[in-house]
Amino acid sequence: MSKIILTGDRPTGQLHIGHYVGSLRRRVELQNSGEYDKIYIMIADAQALTDNIDNPEKVRQNVIEVALDYLACGLDPAKATLFIQSQISELCELTFYYMDLVTVSRLQRNPTVKSEIQMRNFEASIPVGFFTYPISQAADITFCKATTVPVGEDQLPMIEQTKEIVHKFNAIYAPDQPVLVDPQALIPDTEACKRLPGTDGKAKMSKSLGNCIYLADTADEVRTKVMGMYTDPLHLQVSDPGHLEGNTVFTYLDAFAKEEHFGRYLPDYANLEELKAHYTRGGLGDVKVKRFLINVLEEELEPIRNRRIAFSKDIPEIYNILKKGSEAAREVAAQTLSEVKRAMKIDYFDDMELISAQSKKYSE
Ligand code: ATP
Ligand code: MG
Repeated sequence: MSKIILTGDRPTGQLHIGHYVGSLRRRVELQNSGEYDKIYIMIADAQALTDNIDNPEKVRQNVIEVALDYLACGLDPAKATLFIQSQISELCELTFYYMDLVTVSRLQRNPTVKSEIQMRNFEASIPVGFFTYPISQAADITFCKATTVPVGEDQLPMIEQTKEIVHKFNAIYAPDQPVLVDPQALIPDTEACKRLPGTDGKAKMSKSLGNCIYLADTADEVRTKVMGMYTDPLHLQVSDPGHLEGNTVFTYLDAFAKEEHFGRYLPDYANLEELKAHYTRGGLGDVKVKRFLINVLEEELEPIRNRRIAFSKDIPEIYNILKKGSEAAREVAAQTLSEVKRAMKIDYFDDMELISAQSKKYSE
């Protein structure tokens, strides 16, 4: 069986370091591993509209921002198909058919949707499109028969929903020869990367919460954000013992620091364990740790930022990449949709057996 990757992001803002450690960094590694037959990376504009219905301009403007972030991180259009969700109308058709396979109560149980509804104050008036976006995400994942979906932890309930749809579809419509492929989520191994907290120490760095360090931020912006970051409220004096639990600066170090960084920027310590031990013992100030974090982040972010600036010099070319990618994705979606329709017995004009059986019935 082919190994196929599908993943994507909502164009609700520029991408941040949470996206980077949660999914983007992994995608680029997988792309360059050469182990995958196809890689699809989707800019989920239609999904973004489900909770930004009043703000189409925001979604429209951010498509190019997300594409720039992709290219800056090393996604390569020669190896990966970059496309825009709304341009693949087959996805709407798949979504519509999958809706028959999911109950309202099942959607209501989705923990990510539940917390997103709360976050957006949607309790009293949830748009149907938003409520059902896990179903449209199943269409996104299955149109290309994805086997692997590299995502952050918040997406696990979506993959679970997709798996249920795949199993139900195959059991009902294609019991002999499955049409849809069961996808596997690939979430980061490091705890900190699964759901990177925001600079405010809140649960998740998220474009919608404005607590982000963006890949496009300048070195000065990164420095200012890190210096203003939440650490340990009990660590008032340098000599006080510090706490690591909920200390976002250390969470970011968990996500980004490598042993070689210590040699380069903080040679008094051999590794992160030693730094943590000193902090919890007392005698290590927040500013020193933050300065180290800034160096670590800069080493990773500077080349990304520079590549982003270089790609931004030719914006028409980026739209061209997205157009070509969308055309390629559409061809694949059309093929899957025709298999889906055949399995569902709604392929009337292609089913010669049906036509001849019906004409036989009426000629007798
Ligand atoms: P929005 O607030 O519009 O939902 P978002 O910041 O949550 O935006 P998405 O586009 O929803 O970003 O997520 C894209 C991908 O990035 C998903 O795979 C998601 O799991 C991952 N991701 C987003 N935020 C984080 C984070 N803080 N830590 C790890 N992964 C993340
Ligand atoms: Mg999100």
